[in-house]
Amino acid sequence: MNSHAKPEKLIKGATGDFEVVIGLEVHAQVTSRAKLFSGAATEFGSEPNANVSLVDAAMPGMLPVINEECVAQAIRTGLGLNAKINLRSVFDRKNYFYPDLPQGYQISQYKSPIVGEGVVTVDVSPTEQIEVGIERLHLEQDAGKSLHDQSPTESFVDLNRSGVALMEIVSKPDMRSADEARAYVTKLRTILRYLGTCDGNMEQGSLRADVNVSVRRPGEPFGTRCEIKNVNSIRFIGQAIEVEARRQIGILEDGGKIDQETRLFDPVRGETRSMRSKEEAHDYRYFPDPDLLPLEFDQAYVDALAGYLPELPDAKKARFMKDYGLPAYDAGVLVADKETADYFEAAVKHGSKPRDPKLVANWVTGDVAAYANSLGLPVAQTHIAPAQIAGLVDLISDGTISGKIAKDVLAIVIGEDKDGDPRAIVEARGMRQVTDTGAIAAAVDAIISANPDKVAQAKAKPTMLGWFVGQVMKQTGGKANPQAVNELLKEKLGI
Ligand code: ADP
Ligand code: MG
Repeated sequence: MNSHAKPEKLIKGATGDFEVVIGLEVHAQVTSRAKLFSGAATEFGSEPNANVSLVDAAMPGMLPVINEECVAQAIRTGLGLNAKINLRSVFDRKNYFYPDLPQGYQISQYKSPIVGEGVVTVDVSPTEQIEVGIERLHLEQDAGKSLHDQSPTESFVDLNRSGVALMEIVSKPDMRSADEARAYVTKLRTILRYLGTCDGNMEQGSLRADVNVSVRRPGEPFGTRCEIKNVNSIRFIGQAIEVEARRQIGILEDGGKIDQETRLFDPVRGETRSMRSKEEAHDYRYFPDPDLLPLEFDQAYVDALAGYLPELPDAKKARFMKDYGLPAYDAGVLVADKETADYFEAAVKHGSKPRDPKLVANWVTGDVAAYANSLGLPVAQTHIAPAQIAGLVDLISDGTISGKIAKDVLAIVIGEDKDGDPRAIVEARGMRQVTDTGAIAAAVDAIISANPDKVAQAKAKPTMLGWFVGQVMKQTGGKANPQAVNELLKEKLGI
């Protein structure tokens, strides 16, 4: 594991370097139409208290019944995290009082979770990969929500989320910078989305993280951690880590000590604030829920689920590198979103003859991604079809247009001719590249005879060639084949 940070990751304090140590508890809402122990719907955005069964409202005498789909989702997720699946696990009651918790306890898993240790491979940058250990994954119920902003004198409770299934995915304290933590959550979200076990939608609260942060001098044992609760965006996770590490370093450098606390991140003020001192497990009086039997299934059940898992991002990346000869960086960018990866493959394979995958990757991760970003959409949700990108790449490859003209064709597809076939656009608008050397030679001759001073300069300074290329391109409306222009110019200028 990644036990010691590289020197460039250390944080400089006034009295020397510090290393930040991070472990994350990620709460991921299970994709399931019904709740963990009731048949009520889990739909987002319903009227308050529209999705509440008697079980979710904790009416006396109501009994929980496990939803098998949620169990299957937790197992799939465990498999996707390369983790040990526990064939026997136990649901416990975690007791606490809060207005949004009608039962007075949360059904969770404590000593015997459904998933044990695993590992996630994380790309921190194009050249740096780390492995983050998974401690465990357990199933638990979400709580309801108190509404304090509806009336000046009263608070209300919305129980729509009460009883919704969550997976708590606990990492080992294996991260050593805000970048590593951000990259880990990004990768985790990608895996969950590939698996279809959590939609990863952080704005809707489907994925949120409790961020544990401590600091130490390099080489020393772990320091005391603080837990920053419920951070709901990847950017905020990074910011919370940075300000919390700074705060702890400040205290230590002043000769103080860190109190183990639960804190909140305030993104507006850019600081963390104490919420309460750390609660201990015994504060929750955990005990096995007498209403639920231990959860048991056999290995055949796990194997059957494993048999239907989709190709996951790491495997897809390896395949893109091997089958399409893509560099690791391109493959990594493409597989970060499953639909983008599918889009790329559709463009490569469109029609009867194969085309250069690297060229297709360049367009998908370059111009198409930039256009998608400008709309705030993923690549696959823009109107540009993989077939259009395939057409564009073919036109470049067979020399009909240059890469530069291809950008103009794409602009037409983005703007005036959304369904347009690139080849038809090029023909209709006379955008073909001029490869006829006679026509190019005429343009070259004209430029040379009009600029004798520049010709003299170019002989002394061959980098002047660029200026001539630009002039010829201008004269030919950008349609001259750049390679032919270069060759002819060199020949005629004698450089
Ligand atoms: P609790 O329920 O008390 O928060 P858990 O074991 O569920 O305890 O979670 C502890 C989390 O804190 C894990 O993600 C773990 O990696 C992380 N952690 C443990 N020790 C440290 C430390 N010294 N610094 C930072 N993170 C830590
Ligand atoms: Mg915790």
